[in-house]
Amino acid sequence: MGLTLAEYHRLTPLPRPGGVLYVKPGARGFRDPVYDLLQKTVEPYGQKALDLNPGVGWGSLPLEGKMAVERLETSRAAFRCLTASGLKARLALPWEAEEGAYDLVVLALPAGRGSRYVEASLVAAARALRMGGRAYLAGDKNKGFERYFKEARRLLGYGEVVRREGPYRVALLEKEREAPPLPPLWQAFQAHLLGQAFTFRHLPGVFSAGKVDPASLLLLEALKGEVGDLRGRSVLDLGAGYGALTLPLARLGGAVTAVEDDWASVLSLKASLRANGLRASVLHSDVDEALTEGEGFDIIVTNPPFHVGGAVILDVAQAFVEAAAARLRPGGGFFLVANPFLKYEPLLEARFGGFKTLLVREYKVLFAAKEGGKP
Ligand code: SAH
Repeated sequence: MGLTLAEYHRLTPLPRPGGVLYVKPGARGFRDPVYDLLQKTVEPYGQKALDLNPGVGWGSLPLEGKMAVERLETSRAAFRCLTASGLKARLALPWEAEEGAYDLVVLALPAGRGSRYVEASLVAAARALRMGGRAYLAGDKNKGFERYFKEARRLLGYGEVVRREGPYRVALLEKEREAPPLPPLWQAFQAHLLGQAFTFRHLPGVFSAGKVDPASLLLLEALKGEVGDLRGRSVLDLGAGYGALTLPLARLGGAVTAVEDDWASVLSLKASLRANGLRASVLHSDVDEALTEGEGFDIIVTNPPFHVGGAVILDVAQAFVEAAAARLRPGGGFFLVANPFLKYEPLLEARFGGFKTLLVREYKVLFAAKEGGKP
């Protein structure tokens, strides 16, 4: 039945020249053909390198020890691996890099995060390089590589594809012109949820940018039918994004804790709470890793992730269910919304001893309780 929560959180050491490389489920950039091709291609150039999408650090690993390598990473899971591996990393967005400071930039195109995020990353790469500096770009031609490579040439200057394997590509470019300013990053939109108006603010790359996901709407509708007032109740939102579930549940009076692995989403959620005069405890966390041991909740909600760059991955979603089972208080209720083809039912049956299907439309909302009564 997949991974236990302890297995999910465990870091696995792999041998590498001069040390170990830690990997874990839910952390990007390992056993990924784009990173593999990058790893086979990168060569040192100058003194200072910057990896703008390192994941666990595999792609730029050959540079380690040959030049100073800095890494900006947004995922808590990946960041944990980087620091455990002793690889220098900072929790930051790509566009927070120091300007004109690097001889070499390495970027595995974050294609799964949408074109606004990729484009901002490309401008960030151009700004971080010194004049004459070089950039490696790695990507998949089925996920926009050609278009982004063209954009990178427009920003930087000369460039060519230096390696191809199947649909995967690595290009090497050189900075020949001044970089443009960063594009505007913050966006906002309004949404009506549970009959109330909310303003959401978000950075590029967040889940369901510009419009609340219909699955999240369905979860709220189902939850409203089961629980009324949330005053005095503790609520956990697993994988909170910019807060499509957190904000309305906080508005209903719940004491909400939101956990989210992605730093751009964490910043977006904090900005959204402020924009609506609401409060919640927001934690940058790989599943429940940032919660204190034994911390329990009356209501747990999730619209779990199941795609990473096109591949269905269920490790994280399963860990969400395991975390919910571990942290739901007796008498509490767990609400999960999912694509109908995803089979969460056996796992809910095994961990909670039963479940109910509350709503089925384009998505299904499942409910499980911890013995001790209704939520
Ligand atoms: N609750 C939000 C977002 C749902 S999408 C909404 O309804 O709109 C799932 C979210 O889970 C994404 O924001 C994603 O960044 C986050 N996520 C992915 N892996 C995670 C992990 N390991 N730990 C915590 N959050 C994670």
